[in-house]
Amino acid sequence: MKKITIFAILFISITFSSQGQDVGKWRAGSPFKLTGGVYTLTCFVSRPDEEWAYDAKIKKLNVLKENQEWIKTQALKYGFSVDFSESGHLGLKEDIKLPSIESGTGSGKEPVNLVSQVLYKAGYKSTLDLFDWVKHHTKAENLQVIIFAKGQGRGYSMASSSAMNKEKYFVEGTVLYETSTSGKESSTSAIAHEILHLYGAWDLYKTFCQTAENEKKARELFPNSVMLKVSNNLNSLEVDKVTAWRIEWNNEPEEWYESFRGDCRQ
Ligand SMILES: [Zn+2]
Repeated sequence: MKKITIFAILFISITFSSQGQDVGKWRAGSPFKLTGGVYTLTCFVSRPDEEWAYDAKIKKLNVLKENQEWIKTQALKYGFSVDFSESGHLGLKEDIKLPSIESGTGSGKEPVNLVSQVLYKAGYKSTLDLFDWVKHHTKAENLQVIIFAKGQGRGYSMASSSAMNKEKYFVEGTVLYETSTSGKESSTSAIAHEILHLYGAWDLYKTFCQTAENEKKARELFPNSVMLKVSNNLNSLEVDKVTAWRIEWNNEPEEWYESFRGDCRQ
């Protein structure tokens, strides 16, 4: 459930001898702001030797709906309204097949090009065709792609910056696995957690880009934050005020909010 950014990849593949490496401006993709209409494209993907059970897909769609309802309720608390009523599916009847799917481990090195890979497999010539379609055929201002991958893994989000290839990365999405890395049912709140990442939320627990110190601080200040912990009971969680600021629901930030950035670049 870590925020995977292309920067993480760049970080290991280049040295910092080239100072001032331009990583561009983040929050440059298809989910602009978590208010108003959000079009959700859900995709079910699997490897050649496996197949999603139809019932398992329906179950995931129901959990997604539950998470979106929860986000709507949280938004209202901050005075914003979000509409998730427009959506589409790919791979609902028959899985979209990928030659391989990496199991997310939270390393920060997971592939971040899955959205374009899946859309090409589904027949799109260009990922931007999907964005244009949403713009012209729906009322939604935002487009988010939710990829449900068969198998075990830790979910992650794929954010894009203005320095990244638009065709490959502009349409943003998140990968969620059928089960957790231990093979157990994934936590309900993992979906909301990953969706919020797409709109700029930071992890508030220790990750490859978040410090243990900040996790400790978050435990004291926002023990029930959806960016800090997972739960199967969404009603026990909240969008804390730092996260609300990150996703533009809180326009009155305090200076110390910035300290939660940790080493996260976005
Ligand atoms: Zn996360």
